[in-house]
Amino acid sequence: MILAPAPQPASPARDLTDPFGRRVSYLRVSVTDRCDFRCVYCMAEEMTFLPKRDLLTLEELDRVCSAFVRKGVKKLRITGGEPLVRRDVMSLFRALGRHLDAGDLEELTLTTNGTLLTRYADELAACGVRRINVSLDSLDPDRFRRITRRGDLAQVMRGIEAARRAGLHVKINAVALKGVNDDEIVPMAEWAHGLGMDLTFIEVMPMGDIEPERIDQYMPLTAVRDRLAERFALTPLPDRTGGPARYVRAEETGGRIGFITPMTHNFCESCNRVRLTCTGQLYLCLGQEDSADLRAAMRGSEDDERLEAAIDEAISRKPKGHDFLIERKAGPAVPRHMSVTGG
Ligand code: SAM
Ligand code: SF4
Repeated sequence: MILAPAPQPASPARDLTDPFGRRVSYLRVSVTDRCDFRCVYCMAEEMTFLPKRDLLTLEELDRVCSAFVRKGVKKLRITGGEPLVRRDVMSLFRALGRHLDAGDLEELTLTTNGTLLTRYADELAACGVRRINVSLDSLDPDRFRRITRRGDLAQVMRGIEAARRAGLHVKINAVALKGVNDDEIVPMAEWAHGLGMDLTFIEVMPMGDIEPERIDQYMPLTAVRDRLAERFALTPLPDRTGGPARYVRAEETGGRIGFITPMTHNFCESCNRVRLTCTGQLYLCLGQEDSADLRAAMRGSEDDERLEAAIDEAISRKPKGHDFLIERKAGPAVPRHMSVTGG
C-alpha cells in the first residue's frame, strides 16, 4: 500500500525576532504627513507636505500591514500626521478589521488629535477599534490654540465625547512643555481621571528642524512627577507595554498616569516595535536613521515575496538602542518630523 505523503505543515511565517532577541509584535503606521493642526513642537508654521504620489496608497498600506500581521505583529497603531484627515482612511480600518475578526491581530488602534472623532468614532468602533489615544496639551482654549496654532478645543472635546459614547476607551497624551502647560499637570490628571481616562505625559523630543524654543520648553518628566506627587499618592505599576511608558496610579482618583521619557530613560532593551512612514520607509528605531524601503519592495513585485524578504532583512538590522540628546547648540538628533515617522 502506498501511503500518501503526510501533509506538510504550512511553512511557519518567520517571526520577527531581531538580533538582540526582541520579538517585534507592534507596528506603528503613519498614513499621512498632513494635519489640520501645526503643533509648535511637531511642525513648522509653514509646512511643505509630500506629493501624493510618494504616499503609499490605502491598498499598499493594507498590503504591508497584512504582511506584518502574517509575520506575527499583534498590534497596529495608525498615526500620522493626523490619520483621520487622510481621504477614505476608514476603508483602511475596515480592511484591517478582518485581521481582528480572524484572530490574527489583537489590537487595531490609533493616535489622533481628536478633531474628526465626531465624524468617525462610531465607524472606528464598528471596525473593531477598542482603544484610542487622543493628544491634548491644554484644557484652556486660548492656550490650546496657541500650542496647536489652529486647534479648536471645543471640537476636540466633542470628539472625545463622541469616542466615549461609541464605547472607545480613550487615553489622553499630553506633551509636557515648561512654561507653557506645566501649571496644568494636576488639573489635567483630575479632569482625565474624572472621566475614567488614563493620562500619559510625553517629554518633548528633538525631532525635525523646527525652532529653537523647543529646547527651552524641554521639561524632564521627573519634574512632572514631582508636581503630581504634591497632590497625589503615586503607586508605581508594573510595565506591561514593552514600550517607553512607565505607569503609576494616583490613589486619590484611582486613575493611571503614564510617563514617556525617551530622553531620560533607557527603554530600548524591551523595545518590541517598528515604525512605517507614509511613504513606506520602515524605521527600526525612533531615534536612528537606519530604514528600509518597503514601498520599492512592494511596487517592484505583484506578489509579497520581495516585501516579506525586505521586512526580514530590515528586522535583522534593528539597532540595540538610540541616542537622543537635547543640547543647546546641537541640531535635532533626528532630522525627520514626528509627523513623518508617526508618533
Ligand atoms: N496627529 C496625531 C496626534 O497628535 O495625536 C498623531 C500624530 S502625532 C505626531 C503623535 C504624538 O506625537 C502626539 O501625541 C504628539 O503630541 C507627539 N509629538 C509630536 N511631536 C513631538 C515631539 N517633538 N516630542 C514629543 N512628542 C511629540
Ligand atoms: Fe498634527 Fe499631531 Fe503633529 Fe499636532 S502632534 S501637528 S496634531 S501630527
